[in-house]
Amino acid sequence: MEQGPILSPHILIFPGPGQGHVNSILKLAELLCLAGFKITFINFQDIHERLVRHTDVEARFSKYYGFQFKTIPGCQAEDPRPVDWVRKLLQEMEVKSKPIFKKMMHCISACSFWTFFSIPDVVAAHQLPIKEIRQCQALIINTFEELEGPILSQIRIRYPKIYTIGPLHEHLKTKLRSIEKQESYSSSNSLWEVDRTCITWLDNQPSQSVLYVSFGSITIMTREQLMEFWHGLVNSKKKFLWVIRPESVINQDGDNLGEIPEQLQEGEKEKGYIVKWAPQEEVLAHKAIGGFLTHSGWNSTLESMEAGVPMICWPYFGDQQVNSRFVSEVWKLGLDMKDVCDRGVVEKMVNDLMVDKREEFVKSTARMAELARKSVSEGGSSSSCLNRLIADIRLMNM
Ligand code: UDP
Repeated sequence: MEQGPILSPHILIFPGPGQGHVNSILKLAELLCLAGFKITFINFQDIHERLVRHTDVEARFSKYYGFQFKTIPGCQAEDPRPVDWVRKLLQEMEVKSKPIFKKMMHCISACSFWTFFSIPDVVAAHQLPIKEIRQCQALIINTFEELEGPILSQIRIRYPKIYTIGPLHEHLKTKLRSIEKQESYSSSNSLWEVDRTCITWLDNQPSQSVLYVSFGSITIMTREQLMEFWHGLVNSKKKFLWVIRPESVINQDGDNLGEIPEQLQEGEKEKGYIVKWAPQEEVLAHKAIGGFLTHSGWNSTLESMEAGVPMICWPYFGDQQVNSRFVSEVWKLGLDMKDVCDRGVVEKMVNDLMVDKREEFVKSTARMAELARKSVSEGGSSSSCLNRLIADIRLMNM
């Protein structure tokens, strides 16, 4: 927090070096810009270069007075230990910022936070070789009360100050719509070149007939796993739109294949469509999409939920296992494949989601989508929380 002649709070934002972090945190930054705060958005150097190359992000944010992008020279996401840079930055902040500021932020789902939150108990039970866990004073969580209320109540016992302001992408859209009276809003924060030909392909497919398949920006799979998915999808006889990042497939020795196997490229025309990167939010909102086979990244989960699209979950790592269990067992928004990767299971789950159990999933996703939209509209839980966050940040500067 900066002290000086201008009494506008100055917020420093430093997202983790990944697509999911950059995407959601930029949306948080824009919501805070709309509230009139000065923001310095620090990025890893290579991440920022990719962002600028593939999006209009600089032009988009240039309209906000007091917003600036900064990179730390030499700070690369490709570094073997990018976390060292984060630690260094936090130590600098300890020295230079007002005490209240450095104890602020977080931006994940409550259900996965809950698992991290329980770590102290595991440490106390001597089940983990960790001595100290950093505490923070307040939490900003990309979720909404109606989705994760019971878990949030548990977390509030330890951290009373929680701001649930999600789904961030829908929240920002709603705010911009009301301020700028724009009906359609698209804001790509992509680190890859977006292939928009898939939207034209979707335009020619019947309503809710296509399964969207994407495992996010980090997941790596073997060629064998890729082929199991391919056979499962083809055998299901449902059309699919599949995002395959060429660098995401490895062979048995762990080497990158570098390209999509030929068999998939040949078959794509009549069975489905394959791209290297898609405009995901727009894809999920497309009327031709009837389901999403996902790795259960939190952004993808919220985007699917808000679009009312049921999911098949194939979690990869981190918070994804928890997210996928909640999708299937708690919210009933889809099916959890867990770590199984078998063509027969893929085929059956696709048919369950798209045909046999479709009705029940469509009902629960439509209900959740409605709750998500209400939460970010005027007077809704996330909208009120954002107002509270803005007021509390202003108070910090007094
Ligand atoms: N995404 C995209 N195009 C794609 C695949 C993913 O724009 O082809 C976006 C997606 O909308 C989401 C983000 O990338 O906002 C992925 O974040 P998530 O938390 O789901 O997963 P991660 O990549 O962090 O594992």
